[in-house]
Amino acid sequence: MSAAAAPSGPRILLRRLREVMAGEGSAQDRMDQLVMAIAANMVAEVCSIYLLRDGMLELFATEGLKPSAVHKTTLRIGEGLVGQIAQLARPVALSEARSHPNFAARPETGEEDYHSLMGVPVLRGGRVVGVLVLQNRINRDYSADEIEAMQTIAMVLAEMVGGALQEEMPGVGTFGTDGLPRRMAGLSLNEGLARGVAVLHAPRIVVERHVADDVDVEAGRLTVALKDLRVQVDSMLQAAIAEPGGESRDILEAYRMFAHDKGWMARLHDAIQGGFTAEAAVERVQVENRARMSEISDAYLRERLHDLEDLSNRLMRHLTHGGQMPEGDVPEQAVVVAWNMGPAELLDYDVDRIKALVLEEGSPTSHVAIVARALQIPVVGRLDGLLDNVESGDDLVVDGDNAQLFVRPAADALVAFSANLETRQAKAAQYAALRDQPAVSKDGTRIELNLNAGLLADMPHLDGTGADGIGLYRTELHFMVRATLPTVSMQTDFYGRVLDQAGGRPVVFRTLDVGGDKMLPYLARHDDEQNPAMGWRAIRLSLDRPVLLRMQIRALLKAAAGRPLSIMFPMIAEVSEFKAARKLLDREVERQTRMGEPTPSTLRVGTMLEVPSLAWQLPALLPLVDFVSIGSNDLMQFLFASDRGNPRLANRYDELSPSALSLVRDIVQRCDAAKVPVSLCGEAAGRPVDAMALLGLGLRSISMGAASVGAVKMMVRSLDLPSLQTFMEGFYDSPEHSLRNALKKFAEDHNVAI
Ligand code: PEP
Ligand code: MG
Repeated sequence: MSAAAAPSGPRILLRRLREVMAGEGSAQDRMDQLVMAIAANMVAEVCSIYLLRDGMLELFATEGLKPSAVHKTTLRIGEGLVGQIAQLARPVALSEARSHPNFAARPETGEEDYHSLMGVPVLRGGRVVGVLVLQNRINRDYSADEIEAMQTIAMVLAEMVGGALQEEMPGVGTFGTDGLPRRMAGLSLNEGLARGVAVLHAPRIVVERHVADDVDVEAGRLTVALKDLRVQVDSMLQAAIAEPGGESRDILEAYRMFAHDKGWMARLHDAIQGGFTAEAAVERVQVENRARMSEISDAYLRERLHDLEDLSNRLMRHLTHGGQMPEGDVPEQAVVVAWNMGPAELLDYDVDRIKALVLEEGSPTSHVAIVARALQIPVVGRLDGLLDNVESGDDLVVDGDNAQLFVRPAADALVAFSANLETRQAKAAQYAALRDQPAVSKDGTRIELNLNAGLLADMPHLDGTGADGIGLYRTELHFMVRATLPTVSMQTDFYGRVLDQAGGRPVVFRTLDVGGDKMLPYLARHDDEQNPAMGWRAIRLSLDRPVLLRMQIRALLKAAAGRPLSIMFPMIAEVSEFKAARKLLDREVERQTRMGEPTPSTLRVGTMLEVPSLAWQLPALLPLVDFVSIGSNDLMQFLFASDRGNPRLANRYDELSPSALSLVRDIVQRCDAAKVPVSLCGEAAGRPVDAMALLGLGLRSISMGAASVGAVKMMVRSLDLPSLQTFMEGFYDSPEHSLRNALKKFAEDHNVAI
């Protein structure tokens, strides 16, 4: 039941608040008046303002709580409901606050009489600077309109925090970044080590004026800025089209759609009609977006909302700085610091200057991580509190290998960094020297080392590493960075370019592995899946939506006209699925022939083996396939029933356990017996010790990320395979959890470079 009358319209409320803010007296006086006015307007017994001072939330003004608690009561970020609102930057509305697990009673405030609570964060330039709270005696259900009204008030309050209040009370509204060294732990999204100067991506533009003097003027400013934004996005798109071979065009097309999105524009104009300035309207819609984003678990939709976040930042720059980045040039050695970003934003930088990227959010499947990997930029994500701890110009050391960031590193961290960097550079020089040397073991066995790729940006690594070819081309990445389904001719063009750039070296194209957490916007969505990795993805989706697969196969056949082509299917769990996919492929080949179109000079069709069940169908499968590629990432996650993306499980099971090694050995032996080429393309192939074990159990072809080729080749060239094989003989029946240490010991004793 709502005890409050609907609050007066936002414009009237805004006007009233402005009168208070422009009134006489100290900032404290005006805040005291503000809480009274808000409590009256929102029909609440209590209205309190908590502001951040030196990292703590301090009660600055209250109507309803005991005045003696003002400037006495403080809460840490995350402490109690107020601390939670600040931590999550999200409103909270509870009709019975006391039963919430985060409720922390503060007896000195006299709040025990109040049951319901609604609080919203006070945000300035995207940072939480305080919390505005209402409390009522009764169990009041605060409506969505009331929460929105409070968010509006909080924006106006933020203006005051930045202005008068900071002048009178320095330190208010800051986290009190103490300038001290800090180590932050996150999630590695791309390995590598780098040091550079912090460049705040989309530097916070602080809105100085929230309340509009003239709604029409603000609406006009917004219209002009939106027009300028569209021109900017269009010209970025033109430039990307002119630039041959990049994926930026596809990415930018998605942007273009958003820049013309009617819903977004309507929400911006609505905010202006509510009495905001154009900048405040952009900020407001952005805050709403972020709140929506934090509730969306769907990876694709979250990515799209990031695109919108980027556009909002650009729009804000058009309103305030004529579209220019206010921070000037990016330094030579820059570490980009962002809450999150879309791939186009990264490509927007002069990427030669970007030494690393650190994100408050981010996930391994996010597009920016994919693009950064192709560009070999180290990335650490999920760094909680990143933006509150890093200032523009800070010295940063990014350690993507160990998922950590050193902010303003202390002497010991710098010494460790220099030592690690030296080791890395020395190794890189050794690897570079091996580039043109064959991967032949000491006993003379030639090992095929291939690359895993997924973007055109990966292709130059073929020359860079001296790899034999592309053992896995993940075609879905091209689909994932686009807003619309690529046509057959677009795909033909794209695959053709991949083959051109491979320059005659073999490329194994894997058909679409989408679905699960790699959803495409233009594909009909299904109900939320409880286990997306085991859900409607890869070949399952392709067989249910055969047009998608047929279009892709058609494009691959056309692209490879007159040249060799290798295709494989992902997530095949049983022979019948391979047969069904193969049938579709054969129909496309027939069609091509019937239409008199040129076909590939040779066609090899194989399968990924990444679902354990297929390992027990090898006698039926092997006569049908030209090759098998073991996808150890998925094979292991299904073998151990252990989510490959869950950091808590990352060390629980080992790919070098007797069961895993036995399974892979069995597959390899059966393939060898049937004379079907077998390879492995999971992450394990890129780790020297793991790769050594894979060779020991019989594999002679492995495929890995470009960054691993040098180290693996070095291992191969220092290895005597027969002695390793003998050493591993007793392994497969061992009761050990893992054979990793034994393998490391072997390497040490036999001078194998791992
Ligand atoms: C695998 O599962 O091992 C594999 C190579 O495929 P992806 O990592 O794309 O799932
Ligand atoms: Mg897989």
